[in-house]
Amino acid sequence: MDHPTATVNPSLLQAHFDNAVDGQYVLDPHADVFIKVNPALCELLGFTREQLVEAQRPVSTLSIVHEDDRALVTAQRQGAQGAGDSGVMRFRAVRSDGEVRHLEVRFTLIRHMGRILQVGSARDVSEQVKLEHKLRTESDFNRELTLAAQRAAKDAQRKSLEVLEANTRVGALAEVLRAIPLLTKRLLELEQISDVFKEAALTMVNDAQFSSCTILLRNEFDELEVKYANPFRMTQKLRPDDNPLYQSVLKGVVPLAVDDAGMHVAPIRAGTDVRGLLQVGLPKNLQRFYASHKPIQESIKDLLSTIADFLGVVIQNHENLERIKQQSRQDRLTGLHNRRVFDEQLVVEFRRALRYDRDLSLMILDIDNFKKVNDTWGHLQGDEVLRAVAGLLKVSFRDLDTVCRYGGEEMVVIMPETVGEAARVKAEQIRRKISEIEVPLLDQPGQNIQVTVSMGIACMNKGTSMEDQLIRAADRALYFCKNHGKNQVKLADELDEA
Ligand code: GH3
Ligand code: MG
Ligand code: MG
Repeated sequence: MDHPTATVNPSLLQAHFDNAVDGQYVLDPHADVFIKVNPALCELLGFTREQLVEAQRPVSTLSIVHEDDRALVTAQRQGAQGAGDSGVMRFRAVRSDGEVRHLEVRFTLIRHMGRILQVGSARDVSEQVKLEHKLRTESDFNRELTLAAQRAAKDAQRKSLEVLEANTRVGALAEVLRAIPLLTKRLLELEQISDVFKEAALTMVNDAQFSSCTILLRNEFDELEVKYANPFRMTQKLRPDDNPLYQSVLKGVVPLAVDDAGMHVAPIRAGTDVRGLLQVGLPKNLQRFYASHKPIQESIKDLLSTIADFLGVVIQNHENLERIKQQSRQDRLTGLHNRRVFDEQLVVEFRRALRYDRDLSLMILDIDNFKKVNDTWGHLQGDEVLRAVAGLLKVSFRDLDTVCRYGGEEMVVIMPETVGEAARVKAEQIRRKISEIEVPLLDQPGQNIQVTVSMGIACMNKGTSMEDQLIRAADRALYFCKNHGKNQVKLADELDEA
């Protein structure tokens, strides 16, 4: 059976073509020309049939396409090349009067007399596109609105989180404030002052939730030295002159300062002196929150001042303790080490010498006829003589040696790494020097007195197993001197040989 269209009257088809509401056409995509167009298409494009089809040089089909859509149309033509291929596309057409219309074209490719032709119908969809665009814009607007609402919600959430976090931190702050007595008690139990600094700084960061804590103390060059910083910082020394804020706190002009970055600086006072600074940073995201809440600011300042004052007390305590420790090891009259240091140090050096088989000498010095000095010139004059002899001893020995006042007018020197003979030579030098000292008379200006000393020396040998043996041997040598005219030096070993 024949195809149904074959039975349709061709003139009927022509009438349908001519009267169709949509633009109808047949074009040769290869030659880029229309072969057949209906009045509706002419109307749509604003060209006459003459211009589109019959003219010597008809209008190129692509030239009617808006230049921005030409690539799209060309691609479509290249994509659909076989008979039976069909498609729908939208593009803009530029009418002969320059007006732009949105067209929707449905087309099919047919083979006719060896050529591939495009048969299609075109419809003006400008209104529809406009409407769609409007709808799209509106939905864009809606989307914008939704996004803005989401943003606002997020912002509110962030803010409430901020408040929540601030609350937590304020809670932590309050906790620390409450715990200050415990904290200070804990810090006071620490022996090393460096541990106190470290504990205090860690508490400020870990418990009180400050973002940083630095303890700076003035050194002898009037620089601020970082004693502890959490987090660790590279700058270990600062010149306070470079920072007016630091300076005003150090000088006591302001009791506490806050800089633009939210750094809080409080003075560390020991007595009336400002010894350094306690510096803490606020977490960045909470600076604004803190700034707008006065009670919190006050709490921070309270906490900071309390800890700074406490550190000042600790520093002062520590210094007092050091002084007491020092005093408990020093002879007040002569400034030499006292008997206690001698006892301790002798044990240390004796054990070391014994274990490592090293040399060790001990020297005992006694001022000759000292009682007479006291009796003749008084005790105060006797003290002057003691100071003069001690002063000479102090500058005559190595750091390695320990010079002590043993008691009364007796002094001892522990000399590690020293053989008896070397000690004897050294002692002899000192004996001579002491005999040359002229001690001014307190009561008679311009007049001096001189004294002599006797010295006994003992050194470790194979027979020495207890430090007492050393002391006894040195004593024996000393008494030998006293019994043999005084003002001399004797080595214990010499006595044993004799
Ligand atoms: P020798 O030559 O035998 O050592 O005779 P000496 O007089 O030095 O010895 P003695 O032990 O008889 O006298 C020591 C004196 O030193 C007795 C004591 O009053 C005095 N003395 C002890 N400590 C001090 C002191 O700190 N200051 C003064 N001024 N005298 C002291
Ligand atoms: Mg004596
Ligand atoms: Mg004496």
